[in-house]
Amino acid sequence: MQKYTTPDLPYAHDALEPYIDQTTMEIHHGKHHVGYTTKLNTAVESHPELFSKTPEELLADLDNLPEDIRLAVRNNGGGHVHHNFFWEIMRPAQENNVAIGNLAKAIDETFGSFAKFKEELTQAALTVFGSGWAWLLIEDNKLKITKTANQDSPYSLGQSPVLCIDVWEHAYYLKYKNVRPDYIENFWQIINWDKTEELYNK
Ligand code: MN
Repeated sequence: MQKYTTPDLPYAHDALEPYIDQTTMEIHHGKHHVGYTTKLNTAVESHPELFSKTPEELLADLDNLPEDIRLAVRNNGGGHVHHNFFWEIMRPAQENNVAIGNLAKAIDETFGSFAKFKEELTQAALTVFGSGWAWLLIEDNKLKITKTANQDSPYSLGQSPVLCIDVWEHAYYLKYKNVRPDYIENFWQIINWDKTEELYNK
């Protein structure tokens, strides 16, 4: 039985400075993410045959999970999977950081322009009430912007994420306090568009 593990960050904790500070990354990854993974493992341990599935597969089939762990998997499995994803779609800041390749084309076709897309995803992230996420994802072969509450997952809705913004306060509060708009604006500097292009092409 192979338990789920929290992957290392694909860069140093200070690599996203000054947009996301080192202390936030240390706590977000080392405490919050590890906490979700630990609680997911604790839940699945009571039905260890489920460790043969990926955590994304668990989220995709919540209705068929044993009832006693369904909510724990929804919350902590979501937290585990979403953070795995979130670290991957960020990178150290680059000049002129915009979408590339097929994703760039699809963004233009779907939203009219990159600027319009940026505006729509920003608006989605700003208007998540309480804790949650804003997503760029694929559903029925189309690009879409969505929001989810808490750790509810696009994987439970048959959607394939391409990009996300964590708007839980733990993602930004130490540096930005209550000013979520500044965190979201700065997030555009550190999106890993190479990774999103790879995800889109899959
Ligand atoms: Mn988070």
